[in-house]
Amino acid sequence: MKTSQPTDVNPTEGALYIVSTPIGNLEDITLRALRVLKTVDLIAAEDTRHTRRLLAHYEIYTPITSYFEGNQIRKGEQLVARLEAGEAVALVSDAGTPTISDPGYRLLVQCIEVDIPIMPIPGPSACIAAASVAGLPLHNFVFEGFLSPKSGRRKRQLTDLCEERRTLIFYESPHRLVAFLRDVLEVFGDRRVSVARELTKRFEEIFRGTMTEAIEKFRSTPPRGEFTLVIAGKASD
Ligand code: SAM
Repeated sequence: MKTSQPTDVNPTEGALYIVSTPIGNLEDITLRALRVLKTVDLIAAEDTRHTRRLLAHYEIYTPITSYFEGNQIRKGEQLVARLEAGEAVALVSDAGTPTISDPGYRLLVQCIEVDIPIMPIPGPSACIAAASVAGLPLHNFVFEGFLSPKSGRRKRQLTDLCEERRTLIFYESPHRLVAFLRDVLEVFGDRRVSVARELTKRFEEIFRGTMTEAIEKFRSTPPRGEFTLVIAGKASD
């Protein structure tokens, strides 16, 4: 079994840093994340233009390259070659924690195969931020990320989750939000839900109520922005 030590950037040893970045408010970044982003040889970013804005804000001039779903195999090989040569690489996504419903999994597998150390630089994630203010039990929970964009398949996925007693967390895009809530109402019944919109941003809003109330609210005002939903698990009989 291979373990890696939680050290910071060591110029003699290649390592991959999984760096969490803000989900909106640029102040939500740790001192350690800033130091790692400044010190590594290369930042691999889901969208280089997006990450450049963060780096410019903090006056970080580290070279940057793209790493996204479309180039992850070829780019992963290039990154592993640089890591094996002793370079330090930070992986970031557009927002929050890389690999959580974001690119990164394949790169981790490639690094693990050749024993490259991988270190987390923890910080924001929309699922945890939304859960923390939902007002639903969280001693344990289920994170589902995005369900299918197609209603039929989504309902089947929800049916599989119907008996789950733990609180459930989902990501959903604004234009599918109401359809998603309707499917949840149909499959789960009228449970409690918290809809976290634009967390840490100017138009942050946290709705808490029943599924019917949520549908009513978001049906009348077409939803805009980014949404995370936290839904009560099945009540004990
Ligand atoms: N890896 C990211 C993380 O750790 O937060 C999540 C990436 S996923 C592709 C993006 C989804 O996260 C959005 O579609 C939305 O559902 C949710 N999200 C991101 N930022 C958010 C915010 N500020 N408020 C609410 N939800 C957000």
